[in-house]
Amino acid sequence: MPKNSEEEAPPKEEEKPVEKPEKAEKPQKRKKEEKGVFSLYKIENDKILRLRPTCERCGPGYFMADHGNRYTCGHCGFTRYKLAEK
Ligand SMILES: [Zn+2]
Repeated sequence: MPKNSEEEAPPKEEEKPVEKPEKAEKPQKRKKEEKGVFSLYKIENDKILRLRPTCERCGPGYFMADHGNRYTCGHCGFTRYKLAEK
């Protein structure tokens, strides 16, 4: 007489991934490159260096934008071509 002994295996406990109440880290917003007057100055040895030329027409205080081969004043539109270096 065959003994039919069914051993019921205990239900395997499913491993549940432990969810921690962690705050989802927000992807850091890339800071927009700020442009301002501070980017036009550089302090070196307690001296202020102006990184842009100023407009000859408008006078000091009016910086000219660097356009590669030329500088342009956004105030009066004056354009000065860069001198060929060497
Ligand atoms: Zn100007």
